[in-house]
Amino acid sequence: MFNLVKGTHDVIIDEARKYSYIETVLTKVAELYNYKEFRTPILETSELFLRSVGDSSDIVRKEMYTFLDKGGRSITLRPEITAGTIRSMVNNKLFAMEDYPVKGYYVGPNFRYERPQQGRYRQFNQFGVECVGVIKPERDSEIISMGYNALMMLGFENVTLKINTLGDDESRTKYREALKEYFSKYLDEMCEDCKERFELNILRILDCKVPHDIEIVKNAPKISDYLTESAKNSFEIVKKNLDDLGIPYEVDDSLVRGLDYYSGVVFEFHYTSSLGKNYGAIGAGGHYSNLVKEIGGPQVEGCGFAMGIERLASVMNDDNLFADLDDSLDVYLMPMGEKAVDASLLIANEIRMSGYSCEICLENKGFGQMFKKAERRKANYALIIGNEELETGVYTLKDMKTKEQFTVEKDKLIDKLDYEYGEGEYEHHHDHCDCGECSHE
Ligand code: AMP
Repeated sequence: MFNLVKGTHDVIIDEARKYSYIETVLTKVAELYNYKEFRTPILETSELFLRSVGDSSDIVRKEMYTFLDKGGRSITLRPEITAGTIRSMVNNKLFAMEDYPVKGYYVGPNFRYERPQQGRYRQFNQFGVECVGVIKPERDSEIISMGYNALMMLGFENVTLKINTLGDDESRTKYREALKEYFSKYLDEMCEDCKERFELNILRILDCKVPHDIEIVKNAPKISDYLTESAKNSFEIVKKNLDDLGIPYEVDDSLVRGLDYYSGVVFEFHYTSSLGKNYGAIGAGGHYSNLVKEIGGPQVEGCGFAMGIERLASVMNDDNLFADLDDSLDVYLMPMGEKAVDASLLIANEIRMSGYSCEICLENKGFGQMFKKAERRKANYALIIGNEELETGVYTLKDMKTKEQFTVEKDKLIDKLDYEYGEGEYEHHHDHCDCGECSHE
């Protein structure tokens, strides 16, 4: 027995099906907004994250899986996918034509050496989007509403959207000075992390989770008092757009996000289940002004968000949002006897090639046990083929829900399935039929 690596988890069978469903819905939403898929490597140079996520962020300071490869290069398992997506836009010269915006979406695993706990893994999956170019506030609003709509399409009802603005460079410079003055009075009594944050990126102190520090943060200066006119205007436009779109939000001026590249509007989607369970942030994102330049691209801006698939799945499990997910099997094929076993591969082939899922029972079970297996596999139909059926060319099909049994000519099997699944026509007649419904010729 080998144990899982701490903080990782298997996503198998039902859970995997749910993840696929979530990813299909989110991908569909991305395509509705005309985003194109980006599949970038999990391995990136460590330097990429130092430059983008930032060396003052917790991610870079404490959480990266970084190692030297056999060629002595410093490699990191990506802790997020924004940096890699932008890097790939730069490397593939997608900005060369200045045909903005350049829009990408992604789905895949991330790695952070965090303390594993409820909803927090060391390997977890994200879906996200990045939109790069001249990012007007209306574009920010469109991206926020896209995240919101994606959650609606998954059936989420109790989403709380929190927004804030980190302002432009000028606003933040003034704000940092004000924070320095304020926190320097309390620094001695604050946690060790905050002491480091004070030096590295003072804004991050606002995000501290230590109760004593939270009290100090409560009375700290607010960004809203330090915004330039243009930063203030941009934020007002975003709020108006959200109002017009009927998307409820809360302005939370302690929202600073853990990644250093954000500027302008930042946002988080929070969720509380119908049972009152709080899942924290299920998705988050914001506007960035200098990231593309930092990664070697032109001085253009961007906006994006990422959602944690694990957290979405756990909300959906708890709130019963997977109820409609169909994991049934169309046909469970039960060959009785050697000849039927021999013929079963070809019959199953025809069923599958016509678009119906089919499993053959080759385990030599008795009739009763086969039906039990069909039930366990959530089969909609059982197809019974014995020697007699092979000789006459008339199979027996059993509807597993209604328990109704039909006889079907072998050439009509697919027509019958089409008919049962609500498509096409099926003419029910043949010489050997004993169903009692059709008229014998
Ligand atoms: P971030 O990339 O930190 O902005 O996070 C975006 C989203 O990814 C969060 O809202 C979570 O849903 C998810 N997420 C971040 N870290 C983890 C983790 N360690 N385990 C599971 N999900 C995570």
